[in-house]
Amino acid sequence: MNVLVINAGSSSLKYQLFDMKNESVVAKGICERIGIDGRLKHEPMNGKPTVKEEINLPTHAEAINTVIEKLTSKEYGVIESLDEIAAVGHRVLHGGQKFSKSVLIDEDVIQAITDCIPLGPLHNPANLMGIKACQKIMPNKPQVAVFDTAFHQSMPEYAYIYPIPYRYYEQYGLRRYGFHGTSHRYISGAALEYLGIPVEGSKLITCHLGNGSSIAAIKDGKCIDTTMGLTPLEGLPMGTRSGSIDPTILSYIADLDGLSMNQVIEMLNKESGVLGISGVSSDFRDIEDAAAEGNHRAQLALDIFSYNVKKYIGAYMAAMGGVDAIIFTAGVGENGPLTREAVTRGLEDLGITIDLELNDFKGKFRDISGKDSKVRVLVVPTNEELVIARDTRDIVSLGN
Ligand code: ADP
Repeated sequence: MNVLVINAGSSSLKYQLFDMKNESVVAKGICERIGIDGRLKHEPMNGKPTVKEEINLPTHAEAINTVIEKLTSKEYGVIESLDEIAAVGHRVLHGGQKFSKSVLIDEDVIQAITDCIPLGPLHNPANLMGIKACQKIMPNKPQVAVFDTAFHQSMPEYAYIYPIPYRYYEQYGLRRYGFHGTSHRYISGAALEYLGIPVEGSKLITCHLGNGSSIAAIKDGKCIDTTMGLTPLEGLPMGTRSGSIDPTILSYIADLDGLSMNQVIEMLNKESGVLGISGVSSDFRDIEDAAAEGNHRAQLALDIFSYNVKKYIGAYMAAMGGVDAIIFTAGVGENGPLTREAVTRGLEDLGITIDLELNDFKGKFRDISGKDSKVRVLVVPTNEELVIARDTRDIVSLGN
């Protein structure tokens, strides 16, 4: 069974075609600058050449058309015809309180995703464009929605209710939702499989550290808390996002610089985090290079980032009454030995050590626990697309 996985952004559309016989990727690519002019990169995995094209892509429908055309073409194709795609799985940012797992898309689901637009104003409309484009071009194919928020729906009330007047939750759904759920779910599942411990009674802390970063506390295989909130702005400092700060800073800056509240939020999303502190870059590689050359603010940005990761690890150990394993993933988590070292340094008394030699690597599954570490420390490359493909296969095969 082949499953097409779609991740639609406002002007981009990423895709991967999976052969679920062996869960392999047979082709992948990206359409960019949709609605502006249009650009495509398509990579077949069967030995045929990668193709990059400037191509007119006025809407997501043309983008999907182009993807199908490439997937089935003689020169760059991996399948004979559209018939060989059994189903389509879509990444959807916000499922609100309605979705705690992936679902087959029908009119009600489309309405529910539409209802969540106020909670995910940038992503949900784009995700809907991807879904509607696929429905138009492949009207008879089952389509599945996989939500970034779904895995976090198991959080208890005391973890997701904000201490503000309760009516904002009741009337408008203002609460912690959490994001990167598909990634936290994948790496926690892979870690449990590797550790060979029963799901019941297990306590994991998953650290998704990339350009966007979040941490989750996962007890008995279920998320009980996570750092991102109503939106992805809360929690850790990130590449360009501030993470949690005193909310009074917003009105202070608005007054100081004569900015609207929306402009301040934009600044907190796009000009803050390690970029804002270092003034160098949002990319950890650039910041690490600058710090190595003695740039104080670059070092400070790295220190603030790893200090905050460490703080949340401590908080979640307390929340769960201990931890069996800490798992690192995403761009920095997988490829940043310096960050992993800084985060775990000084935690010996909590039973956490890493082996510095084992830690000195990038980008593979690895157990980096120190010999005497009571807590296992793992690096698990995330694979959100595979989760989407698996959910899609399961939902379509079970027919519900
Ligand atoms: P996104 O949130 O956009 O999916 P990623 O998970 O791809 O982000 O992470 C991107 C970040 O990972 C980059 O900004 C960079 O800081 C970091 N990164 C990637 N490769 C390395 C590396 N080899 N060493 C250190 N940091 C890296």
